[in-house]
Amino acid sequence: MADYLVLARKYRSLTFDEVVGQEPIATTLQNAIRESRVHHAYLFTGTRGVGKTTVARILAKALNCLSVDAPTPQPCNECEACIAIGRGDDMDVIEIDGASNRGIDEIRELRANAIYRPSRCRYRIYYIDEVHMLTKEAFNALLKTLEEPPGHVKFIFATTEPEKIPATILSRCQRFDFHNIPTRLICDHLAGICRSEKIDADEDALFRIARAAAGSMRDGLSLLDQLLAGGQRVTDDAVVRVLGTPPDERMLAIAGAIASRDAASAIGELSAVLDGGVTLASASAALSDIFRHMMLAATCGGDSDLIELPETQRQAIVELAGQFDTPALVHAIGVLQNLGRSLRGSSVGRGLLEAALVRLAEAEKFIDAASLIARLEQMGGAGPAATGRAAGQKKKPILTPPPAAQSGAAPAAEGATARPPAPAVERPPARGTLSTKEKNHINKDPAVRKVLSLFGGELVDVVKDDAAPPAPAGGGDAIDKDEEM
Ligand SMILES: [Zn+2]
Repeated sequence: MADYLVLARKYRSLTFDEVVGQEPIATTLQNAIRESRVHHAYLFTGTRGVGKTTVARILAKALNCLSVDAPTPQPCNECEACIAIGRGDDMDVIEIDGASNRGIDEIRELRANAIYRPSRCRYRIYYIDEVHMLTKEAFNALLKTLEEPPGHVKFIFATTEPEKIPATILSRCQRFDFHNIPTRLICDHLAGICRSEKIDADEDALFRIARAAAGSMRDGLSLLDQLLAGGQRVTDDAVVRVLGTPPDERMLAIAGAIASRDAASAIGELSAVLDGGVTLASASAALSDIFRHMMLAATCGGDSDLIELPETQRQAIVELAGQFDTPALVHAIGVLQNLGRSLRGSSVGRGLLEAALVRLAEAEKFIDAASLIARLEQMGGAGPAATGRAAGQKKKPILTPPPAAQSGAAPAAEGATARPPAPAVERPPARGTLSTKEKNHINKDPAVRKVLSLFGGELVDVVKDDAAPPAPAGGGDAIDKDEEM
């Protein structure tokens, strides 16, 4: 293994045509070279591992390739300059790590050297990575060179945090925003590498690696390296072990238990997951991911591209999503998001996670007064003031049935959003039109029960308000709300 070259270096793209996931940038740069419109300073932004350094080196080769007598959109990758630039140690293409060379002295030195002509190539090119790390003084010194750059000097800056770069610098650069690389492209690229390396790899395993890479090709390749170092076949199980993610079927079982309101089974499945060495944070994140995918399936359709899952898992998610109503899924994501925050630094993390499962499985039991009032307002009926007065005067409140009761659906989760009350309709309520059966039905609604117990009231009648906006069945934007766990 002594001369093992990590995949990210061995398979770094060598030409603009090979660049994965940043095609528009590659095309624009090629056109600029073809039309001799190459800018003197570029800024490449984007998260780590999306190809900034790769494209910077290809651009440097394109400008300096010795096999032709002018910049070329297709550098040869064989001449001395191309090879040295590819290694990152060419004498005319100076790569600087902004994090460790951030002071004014380094930039002064750069300026002093920039006036000299390149030793063998057409351009002296400075590539400053993580340029946002430069000090204010260093930026000021750099600015002077950027204002009047010698004709033989080109700058390529790269950063993960463009907002930290002074506007004076930004305005003198042509900026390219590198996007996260889509999971599918990372997966295909990994599959191609495995074929070249004659490595046996399962499609599902590569897809899981690609997803974990979260848009970064380098992270995906590092994960693959890690698996190969273990000398094992690239299977889904092996990836799960390396990533420390919980097994899908267990997490789906937890979501299934929540769907059937079986808190005990959900907690039991969780216990099995944690016994397997999965961390609380991983389990929480995986569950959150499942609910997100279910919400996407429910709102965007089961075949949406946003659902980045292997086919078998996608089917399971779509099936499971059918057992929830959309507001309940939104609510669950909110609960799990808050859980993720609470887990950090908590000494009772497991209890919090279990409590969240109970909360989701038995959502209808967890209706707090605030969301109840919001829900009443949403129904266009009695607002807080009205119900307050009713309570103060010891009058029995007249309640409209919650939307769940109207539609005959199961009681929905809490978390309704307050909406402006609908305009009041001047109309004497018709009383005594409810049959006992209807009353019993409405009385069973947890929201109604809660209101009645809060105000010591009794259900007298139901006023249907035609002017009220159609309310969704419970739920709402629970994700925006900070709920106490
Ligand atoms: Zn060349």
